[in-house]
Amino acid sequence: MPKRYEVIVIGVGAMGASTCYQLASRGLSVLGLDRFDIPNTLGTSHGQSRAIRMCYFEHPDYVPLLRRSYELWRSLEKENGQQILHVTGGIWFGPAECELIAGSLSAAKEHGLDHQWLNHDEAIKRYPQFTVPEEFVGFYEPQAGVLLPEAIITAYARLAKQLSATLLANVPVQSWEADSSGVVVQTTNGFYEADKLVICSGVWSEKLIKDLGVDLPVTRQIALWVQPEREELFAIGAMPIWAINREAGGMYYGFPVLDDKPGFKLAVHNPGELTNPDKIDRVAHPQETEELREMLSRYIPQANGEVLEASVCMYSNTPDAHFVIDHHPHYENVFIACGFSGHGFKFASVVGEALADLATTGRTDLPIGFLGLGRFVN
Ligand SMILES: Cc1cc2nc3c(=O)[nH]c(=O)nc-3n(C[C@H](O)[C@H](O)[C@H](O)COP(=O)(O)OP(=O)(O)OC[C@H]3O[C@@H](n4cnc5c(N)ncnc54)[C@H](O)[C@@H]3O)c2cc1C
Repeated sequence: MPKRYEVIVIGVGAMGASTCYQLASRGLSVLGLDRFDIPNTLGTSHGQSRAIRMCYFEHPDYVPLLRRSYELWRSLEKENGQQILHVTGGIWFGPAECELIAGSLSAAKEHGLDHQWLNHDEAIKRYPQFTVPEEFVGFYEPQAGVLLPEAIITAYARLAKQLSATLLANVPVQSWEADSSGVVVQTTNGFYEADKLVICSGVWSEKLIKDLGVDLPVTRQIALWVQPEREELFAIGAMPIWAINREAGGMYYGFPVLDDKPGFKLAVHNPGELTNPDKIDRVAHPQETEELREMLSRYIPQANGEVLEASVCMYSNTPDAHFVIDHHPHYENVFIACGFSGHGFKFASVVGEALADLATTGRTDLPIGFLGLGRFVN
């Protein structure tokens, strides 16, 4: 008889790896299935760095989740014996009334978070790498920093396996069925059975929950690495993570040069052009990085050196750009975490905890009510 698991997790990316680890650490028998390698560069969790920040302009209700997220990142570091979070501070620039600045301030005030409001001259004096217009102010948050996504997924997967989870790479899930007695998952490698199912398959999630009719458009996102003229001005220690309001919507953002990784990384945070994750062109073309080069020449001219690399990634977007973490409305034993809309990585540690709570007890004390499926499904 094939082994029956307590929980199957579809997708062992950021959310899935953390969930497998959380479930295994509670003593459950877990099977994690990924269609590609663990980790891989084909979903949404590659590219060396992810920003974490606390004064959450997108919605202040994320702040309690972020507090727990930071705790869990630190405990992952202890357990894995490797630094995966570098606290660098974060500087944001823009007009006082833009969402980036006003939203960050409002989250900071509502939750009593450390922050500094800097007028233009104060901000530029502290960070002369930036040449932003006089009407821009600065908002600094000391707790912001950089997470290392590949190292994190590798660490969660390794620890989950040590705790006796089974993780299978290169096993695409084709379909699943559930009833009150359990779930059956069909893959290219045969069928697997479990009591419960967690779906966190990133940009491919819409296919696995198509019965719900939730619209999760996938967009193409480009990241660029350049060689600054004077690297010491942009190195970790000299440079915080940063973001600059983008007039056309969203923001430009980027990272200091990391110790063992080449280049100064930057990108646009705003949904890019619609794409199909199964057919996406994975080559970043020079015309796609023109806007970033132009932004560099305007706002961070000393970083505007030789292009070292450009990569293609994807966002899975919900209609309101907030995540979905919930029960499947038709099955009590199926749980879903998807639609991370380009800002989910920093939450992966706490999302794993929330999903493990749901899969073990059917509920969680973590405040995820505002991320329910009821926003989109009756
Ligand atoms: C360029 C870029 C920059 C970003 N910057 C930030 C940032 O600075 N800060 C931040 O917090 N967030 C950021 N994000 C967003 C963040 O990276 C994502 O929200 C997060 O990685 C989503 O994790 P996930 O587990 O949902 O997806 P993934 O990590 O992609 O995992 C999904 C996994 O499911 C697997 N899978 C899919 N379908 C199947 C199937 N049928 N069978 C088996 N396996 C399957 C895939 O292979 C994949 O490994 C960024 C995203 C991009 C693209």
